[in-house]
Amino acid sequence: MEISVAIIGSGPAGFYAADALIKNADDAQIDIIERLPTPYGLIRGGVAPDHQTTKKVAIKFEKTALKDGLQYFGNVEVGRDVTLEELREIYDVVILAIGAPADRVLTIPGSDKIGVHGSAAFVGWYNGHPDFVELAPDLNVDAAVVIGNGNVALDIARVLVRSSSGRAKTDLPNYARGAMDASPIKDVYIMGRRGPIEAKFTNVELREMLDLTECAPIVDAADLPEFIPENVENRDRRLAKKNLYTLCAFSELDPGAKPKRAHFGFYAMPVEILGGERVEGIRFERTKLEDGHAIGTGEMMDIPCGLVVAAIGYRADPVPGLPYDEVKGIIPNDKGRIEKGLYAVGWIKRGPSGVISSSRPDGVEVVEHIAADFPNGGKKAGRTKLLELLNERAVRIVHFEDWKKLEAAEHHRAEQAQPRQKFTDIDAMMDHLEGK
Ligand code: NAP
Repeated sequence: MEISVAIIGSGPAGFYAADALIKNADDAQIDIIERLPTPYGLIRGGVAPDHQTTKKVAIKFEKTALKDGLQYFGNVEVGRDVTLEELREIYDVVILAIGAPADRVLTIPGSDKIGVHGSAAFVGWYNGHPDFVELAPDLNVDAAVVIGNGNVALDIARVLVRSSSGRAKTDLPNYARGAMDASPIKDVYIMGRRGPIEAKFTNVELREMLDLTECAPIVDAADLPEFIPENVENRDRRLAKKNLYTLCAFSELDPGAKPKRAHFGFYAMPVEILGGERVEGIRFERTKLEDGHAIGTGEMMDIPCGLVVAAIGYRADPVPGLPYDEVKGIIPNDKGRIEKGLYAVGWIKRGPSGVISSSRPDGVEVVEHIAADFPNGGKKAGRTKLLELLNERAVRIVHFEDWKKLEAAEHHRAEQAQPRQKFTDIDAMMDHLEGK
């Protein structure tokens, strides 16, 4: 089918959509438009730096990027260099794969104190995302609290308490690795407002806490329920069972066996950040569960700490000119179809949940919508028009071969066991490409 398609966003959802199009629409002309010079979205900027195996999916995405019919337009920002309206005029199909890059905001008194960060910013900082390099959180503290019982909370806690030799094998940028290696943090608290059964950790990630060489995961056995309620079914029940088993193992460990500790705390709702200008602690209210909801009991508990990271989920930014579902934090869509010619995949379609491969079916679904909406293919010029526009506006497009040059330099700069030493500054990337 001849059709011109612009995919906005080069993260997993964008690449899975491109892959599905290539497999099902032979003559599709597919352009992936990415705000940053570098591709792969969450793979580069979200997945934890010590989860290099997960990042290997980029090898598959690279194969997709090199297929005939696909072109990568890095360093092209929709809204700055070209508008969504212009793309819709130029292309038959526009697919939004723009993710959910913002933090769900912690709205308790004191959350504006120095030393309180959202997980998007904190993870972006340690992953070398150019938007967050300036965050430079103060890690010269003894204790940190991570709010939330999801995998992002686990990632943050684990990276903070990993050994220096463990970090040396990651692609943490040198500035973040240096700050963490120099940090005196000995205690990290991972706090959930509900219980272990309701925690959203996946079990492989929870068990990984047992493998840390310098840190003992600990939990109070009194927080572990004796049985799983009948109404927790299927997948949730299997997950809760495995997680309880793992937490039980944590509860039997000697907290003093290793120099650092990751404390798992449950039934604790954050109510106030304590301190002056800087965070000095956090107050939690003990909760009990009613119909699955956390209800405050009035009993308070303070944890002294110099760093708080709220890993309480992400949200998508609204797109000017398009409707936005404030509650779900997505663009309203019918199985990925917003309207004829405009589709959504990944977190902007479903909300911020699931693992990387959860976005794969979204691409397949969108290809089905496109086939139904364009039974005779499309007619718009697509790429040639975009190139004309960007040329007129003197936009320096970073093509895929440019990215490969940046990537080669990142490998070249890597020290010893590091997989890469990332560029974290857009000007430095452009200077490298200009041979400066
Ligand atoms: P998440 O799984 O939705 O977890 C968010 C956590 O924040 C929940 O425990 C939630 O508690 C809590 N929370 C929300 N609002 C809160 C508030 N106001 N006060 C206190 N706690 C609050 O989100 P995530 O950790 O950001 O992860 C996003 C997605 O990425 C998930 O699907 C995750 O599995 C995935 N991911 C996967 C990996 C991996 O596979 N290795 C790594 C990272 C992320 P309630 O349950 O009570 O709402």
